[in-house]
Amino acid sequence: MKITDILSQKKLTLSFEVFPPKAESSYDSVCSATEAIAATGPAFMSVTYGAGGGTSRYTLDIARNIQEKYNVPMLAHLTCVSSTRETVRERIADMKNAGIQNVMALRGDLTPELQNSDRTDWPYHYAVELIRELKESGDFCIGAACYPEVHPESSNQREDIAHLAEKVAAGANFLTTQMIFDNNLFFNFMYKIREAGITVPILPGIMPITNAKQVERAIKLSGSFMPQRFKALVDKFGSNPDAMKQAGIAYATDQIIDLYANGIQNVHVYSMNKPDVAAGILANLSAVLGQNA
Ligand code: FAD
Repeated sequence: MKITDILSQKKLTLSFEVFPPKAESSYDSVCSATEAIAATGPAFMSVTYGAGGGTSRYTLDIARNIQEKYNVPMLAHLTCVSSTRETVRERIADMKNAGIQNVMALRGDLTPELQNSDRTDWPYHYAVELIRELKESGDFCIGAACYPEVHPESSNQREDIAHLAEKVAAGANFLTTQMIFDNNLFFNFMYKIREAGITVPILPGIMPITNAKQVERAIKLSGSFMPQRFKALVDKFGSNPDAMKQAGIAYATDQIIDLYANGIQNVHVYSMNKPDVAAGILANLSAVLGQNA
């Protein structure tokens, strides 16, 4: 099933993101966790793609396994920045053969090593080039990333949104945001992208923070703004794992309810291979999820 068909339903949909193992030794435990998340019945699930393609084969293996066993529509991520054209074409063909209809087309991060290398001969410099390649390769439903707080490489939001519009013009069917902890940033961003003529569905990305260490990692990776209300919660519960988990799930639930109450129907949850977190959010929203928009 295509994600655009899921997003057009008139009800709240929740999708969950998982990531592949970094080493073969943890493949089985990651599979068990992703299967447990699939068993909760999300609208769809996404599987990230290891930067530089290191663990890339697991992305497809996990996506195919979940789709076949649980009938949950899958979104497989794909990055392009340090890949050859042959590798990207091979991955696209593999996805087609595996019955994957939805692809998240990403550039991938520029590591310091990549930043310092000569990029003139690279086949892909930006995600938009991968989106064009996917468009030519088949009938995929294509997702792309967006940044309510501006991508760190962009000098300003206007420029960033102009590049986002190029991705949509090239064929991106929906957008998912970098994680946000303050919904107002998302609402402001929505106004600006709609004003720029971008009309495709946009899914806010919500990351339930369930332990104090995750906070540092999340800020380092995303640069996302942490509201005072959120910082207070981490200060109070950060040293008590059970309390922090409960509070993190409650905070994410509250964000989702606020988004839905203000007209946002589709929310993507960075569930980080944690079935208990996915189940906690779904339990908190059981009556809300049953309501038509
Ligand atoms: P792009 O859209 O190419 O944008 C990158 C930067 O270049 C932006 O500043 C943009 O404004 C600018 N730009 C774009 N086009 C042009 C142009 N034509 N000329 C000049 N500048 C331009 N990383 C992974 O490795 N694996 C994953 O699975 C993964 N999943 C992600 C999922 C989501 C929802 C998000 C938000 C990010 C994800 N990332 C993932 C991280 C992502 O790879 C990085 O944020 C990366 O730095 C940018 O990727 P992009 O696809 O947004 O790039």
